[in-house]
Amino acid sequence: MAEEVFQPLPTVPDHPALEEEVLERWEREGTFEKLRERNRGGPRFSFFDGPVTANKAMGVHTAWGRTLKDLFQRYKALRGFDQRYQNGFDCQGLWIEVGVEHDLGLNSKREIEDFGLEEFARKCRDVVVWSSQELTRASKRLGQWMDWGNDYFTFSDTNIEYVWRMLKRVHERGWLYMGHRSTEWCPRCGTSISQHELAMSGVYQDRADPSLFVRLPLVDRRGESLVIWTTTPWTLPANVAAAVNPGADYGRRASGEWVAAARYPDETFEETLRGSELVGWRYQGPFDTLPPGAGVEHRVVEWDEVSLEEGTGVVHIAPGCGGEDFELGRREGLPILMPVDEAGHFFDDYGWLHGLSTIESADQIVGDLRERGLLVAAGLYEHRYPHCWRCDTPLIFRIADDWFISVRDLRQPMLEANATVEWTPEYMGKRMDDWLRNMGDWNISRRRYYGLPLPFYPCACGHLNVIGSKAELEDRALGGLDQLEELRRPWIDRVPVRCEQCGEPVERVTEVGDVWLDAGIVPFSTLGWQSTESIPEGYATGAARGLTHADLPDHAYWEKWFPADWVSEMREQIRLWFYSQLFMSVVLTGKAPFKKVLGYEKMLDENGREMHGSWGNMITADEAFSRMGADVMRWQYSAQPLDRNLLFGFGPAQEIKRELLTLWNSVSFFVSYANIAAFRPSWSELEPAGDLEPLDRWLVERTHAFVADATASYERYHAYEVIALYEAYVDDLSNWYIRRTRRRFWDGDEIALRVLWYGLVQALRVVSPVMPFLTDHLWRNLVLDGPESVHLAPWPEVAEPDRLYLDEIADLRRVVTLAHQARATSGLKLRQPLRRLVVEGAPSVEAHAAELASEVRVKEVVFGPVEAELRVKPNLPALGPRLGRELGAVQRALRAGEFEELGGGRFRAAGHDLEPADVLVERAGRDGSAVATLDGVTVALDTTLDDELRSEGRVYDLIRTVQTLRKERGLELTDRIVLTVPAEDAQLVERHGDWIKDEVLAREIRIGAALAIEKAA
Ligand SMILES: [Zn+2]
Ligand SMILES: [Zn+2]
Repeated sequence: MAEEVFQPLPTVPDHPALEEEVLERWEREGTFEKLRERNRGGPRFSFFDGPVTANKAMGVHTAWGRTLKDLFQRYKALRGFDQRYQNGFDCQGLWIEVGVEHDLGLNSKREIEDFGLEEFARKCRDVVVWSSQELTRASKRLGQWMDWGNDYFTFSDTNIEYVWRMLKRVHERGWLYMGHRSTEWCPRCGTSISQHELAMSGVYQDRADPSLFVRLPLVDRRGESLVIWTTTPWTLPANVAAAVNPGADYGRRASGEWVAAARYPDETFEETLRGSELVGWRYQGPFDTLPPGAGVEHRVVEWDEVSLEEGTGVVHIAPGCGGEDFELGRREGLPILMPVDEAGHFFDDYGWLHGLSTIESADQIVGDLRERGLLVAAGLYEHRYPHCWRCDTPLIFRIADDWFISVRDLRQPMLEANATVEWTPEYMGKRMDDWLRNMGDWNISRRRYYGLPLPFYPCACGHLNVIGSKAELEDRALGGLDQLEELRRPWIDRVPVRCEQCGEPVERVTEVGDVWLDAGIVPFSTLGWQSTESIPEGYATGAARGLTHADLPDHAYWEKWFPADWVSEMREQIRLWFYSQLFMSVVLTGKAPFKKVLGYEKMLDENGREMHGSWGNMITADEAFSRMGADVMRWQYSAQPLDRNLLFGFGPAQEIKRELLTLWNSVSFFVSYANIAAFRPSWSELEPAGDLEPLDRWLVERTHAFVADATASYERYHAYEVIALYEAYVDDLSNWYIRRTRRRFWDGDEIALRVLWYGLVQALRVVSPVMPFLTDHLWRNLVLDGPESVHLAPWPEVAEPDRLYLDEIADLRRVVTLAHQARATSGLKLRQPLRRLVVEGAPSVEAHAAELASEVRVKEVVFGPVEAELRVKPNLPALGPRLGRELGAVQRALRAGEFEELGGGRFRAAGHDLEPADVLVERAGRDGSAVATLDGVTVALDTTLDDELRSEGRVYDLIRTVQTLRKERGLELTDRIVLTVPAEDAQLVERHGDWIKDEVLAREIRIGAALAIEKAA
């Protein structure tokens, strides 16, 4: 036995174990550092990492995005691009603080303030510290190569200062204002929620709310009333008006109740009036029994938006509790009643309701209406209702004073900037356009604690001071600087500044900023926009001190790396991070901050359900690492078409593991025979040259095609195409090249070994960005004198393949598949040799008749017409809609055999041309033949058996049995044997002895009592 150059492979790979080993080696050998060193100074590929919220351990959802980011960065690195690799953590805002509140058992803003804001801020930072370490560990385990340790943290003073600078500019342009308006409000968090936050997944949930029909007696029409409908009982005490559609008809029931006639088509009415005629009618409010309602004159107003699709067509209007109501109220000059406080509890002047929450009050309100005879009907109403994205509390509408950035002057420039961006998939770019066309002003203020402090100092003199940097703050501060640990509450609240207008001291507003400000500024804050000098570790400021070594570069660096060539996040981020980045970039530069975007849809469990901790179908990243391995996870993520939800789970992972065995087994096959032949391939002679047989030439061309096609798919950011191309390639390599070349490997044919080695090595290189572990593991085994890691080898050269030749073999493989189908219908085993195959309609295969014969195991292949009866049936789903009433005639003609064959699978019947997709074609063979047909190619297999064929069939059976015995006995591939066959097979040995010996490596065949093998001496 020759020295084993290549390490023999176990039957199946242990992915997790192999990955840990590779990780350890990367670490030891500094593989990533070597890669970065090699590419330094090369062409640049700029990528901005969307910051992951640092409040949790890694989940399989997060690992999806991280995989795509890593995959394309690895691809670009193989192509020699210099990259930044900066990872980011999102560290402020509701995500963090609501989690901390929960952990501390606090449940209101009052309780947080009692707990102490300093200590609360420190607890929030602790969460970020823990989570950033966890996420880093798991990301490394996933194989993500980033510049760990030089991450950006959005709670650094540097990041905050950059947002301040942007806000100051917004103020200078006149776009910043304080708005008094109705807003979606979380009563638990005690803050408003902005329009784009409603786009986050999980915000809209199915919910059953009370459905109430309430009678409102009219003041000037005795015995008559309006009937309104509501699903939010708590808003009734704030009712000030009832709206009708001026163009619709309203009818009076016998009971005196007025409703829209169109809503009750089966009812007859005593009197009918146009909606416009009802306008101005006065009515008694539903809660005139309480002081606020008693002071209001309730009246009917007109509103074009009144829906005739639901309710009664008379709409209850409470401008203090609804966005549209507020706008209508403003137009009509209606009074505003605001019934609940920040926490959603009724104010004191609401009498017996005072202190109740919006939800608690529902039953009592319904009871009270019933008692007073105002309730017409009550039930439940199922609908999609928005909830707080952080704490899951149903949102309400409240009037609040919030800070807004006007989008009026920005909408058009943002649309123009987005038009320069290439979105994949394309429809996501359209979604962004839609959002930009419809977005309202950006509500940037939140009444919370652990967030970006808004640098707004409104003065009693009417002047709004906006601070643009820490230096400016220090310059204008009137005290409190000595205790300013971070630019954060509560410390910053203790730093008053001097009003630049009147010189009086002014205090900061207490609001913090929308968390999307923090993430949107990243293309500026991390790249040193307008920074006069490069400051080593200059990003490690404020709360980020001690967590990172990230530098603050200078403006020249920003010029180099802005805009990003590419960014990637899930679709939800269109209205979140992609939007906030675009917004801030258009404010600061007038340009889009990225050139290309890759988006993807949602992740569900493998049965298509959302994953929830409480449903037991949640998978942690650690569980997935240990049960499927990172490569298999990455495969599952990458194979996902971008426009569909990913169904992630262990079931699909099993499938992938099976799929990956084709490559594993092919490498294993190579290793076995290369070791036997003492074959030593050299990296310097990668591309096979010399005396290639046609099949060798085919694999080389097939490899060229795979490299070329996969490269094009990577360039399009279509990872799922790379996967599909890889699967087809490895199938060709294993199930065509290896199988058809098997005998040459037994003979230690060096050319065959060289060609196979080339095919395997190229496959590893192309798919290494997807599966960095398995490919590197196999690479180290296969490549003896090349780069020490597949990730340090450059991207394979893209050569133009001989497509004509490849198509020929692809046709040949299709004919083989058809022949196998025909054989399957006859019930004959694949091993059984047959006399003849007739092929019709595949002229390109004629040059490969011998290959075809051996592959299909027939003595002879004939190219010519197949004698078979042609049956053509209409494909109804395709043809029905197209032909309509003509279908019957076509159907009759086909059934009667009255049709003309046009070639290429097309037919003409009853005057209609039928395309291949329009018809189902069957060919029934004559006696003794099996027929199969597809896309204009037909094969007929002669299934008649004679003695010779039968006896050859038995030889194949015998060979297979012996091969199995060899395996069971653990014989080496090269071991010779002595074979004993039972007497009834003596005749087989007599006729085919040499053939059998050759196939099973037998020195000698003996006749004995039973089949047996023995290792030859
Ligand atoms: Zn909330
Ligand atoms: Zn002033």
